[in-house]
Amino acid sequence: MELWIDLFEDAQTGLFEAVMKPLTLALGQHALLEQAYEATGWFLIGLLQIAFMLMVLLPLERHRPAEPVTDRRAIYTDVIYTLIHRLGLFRLVFFFTLEPPVLALTSWYFLQGGSTWQLDALWPGVTDLPWVSFLLYLVVLDALNYFIHRAQHQFNPWWALHALHHSQRQMTLWTDNRNHLLDDIIVALLFALASQLLGVPPGQFVWLLAVSQLAESLQHANLRSRFGGLRYGLVSPQFHRYHHAIGVGHESPKRVPGGHNFGVLLPWWDMMLDTARFDDVYLPTGIRDQAEQGRDYGQGFWRQQWLGLRRLWGG
Ligand SMILES: [Zn+2]
Ligand SMILES: [Zn+2]
Repeated sequence: MELWIDLFEDAQTGLFEAVMKPLTLALGQHALLEQAYEATGWFLIGLLQIAFMLMVLLPLERHRPAEPVTDRRAIYTDVIYTLIHRLGLFRLVFFFTLEPPVLALTSWYFLQGGSTWQLDALWPGVTDLPWVSFLLYLVVLDALNYFIHRAQHQFNPWWALHALHHSQRQMTLWTDNRNHLLDDIIVALLFALASQLLGVPPGQFVWLLAVSQLAESLQHANLRSRFGGLRYGLVSPQFHRYHHAIGVGHESPKRVPGGHNFGVLLPWWDMMLDTARFDDVYLPTGIRDQAEQGRDYGQGFWRQQWLGLRRLWGG
């Protein structure tokens, strides 16, 4: 593990020195060198993720698809979403626009004597071993993800945005990042806030997000797999596909408050709160009004974003 971390840091430093540093200086942004170094890390993690997706997940999809591919164009749009996110473009913009106010807000809150939920304060010594704290943060942030995802379905304005994610009828490993940008911003803000309150070290935050993202790509894959007995320990492609199933996954018995399999990494929260369904079925994915009334959610990136805003304003 140590070796891999060292290798990664060497690559990050190399790329930073060779490209990012000269670029930042050429743009006259001396004050942003630290951020540029961090952005290099995000970019490299994104490259590793995409390599894994192409070399492991794509062959798996070809080997055991959950359903035949009938609409390749629909997949191309999802690839654009994936590249925007995984190569750090979204992160970069977030970094310079919304992260500074979050940091200012949380430091003001702590100065006022606001309580923290730092793991080390609740359980002294627990963060001494980095891998133990890493796993704990992973579990805590995954619980937060579960409740955020339920809220995305529960509240109509939020559903108006999240519906874009569910409008993919040709779900593949690229579908995870198919979200409305406004939805992404809200979720990223909540995560930045939570990681500050929990005291997650920035170096670990990057990897926590990377692990979650990779697991999410696997869960969206067009892959016939429910992980055998491991399905109770990790959300499988079959488990998440059920959440995307028309009529049963996210609108059953009716959309609010129904729905199943909201979990992102672990199915435990669904199991505890009785929203888990492990039925071994692979049903068509999408949204009921799309399938029955032909409601348009858009094919291309900009049209999908625009229609999301229109739904939000009640259109
Ligand atoms: Zn959902
Ligand atoms: Zn999904």
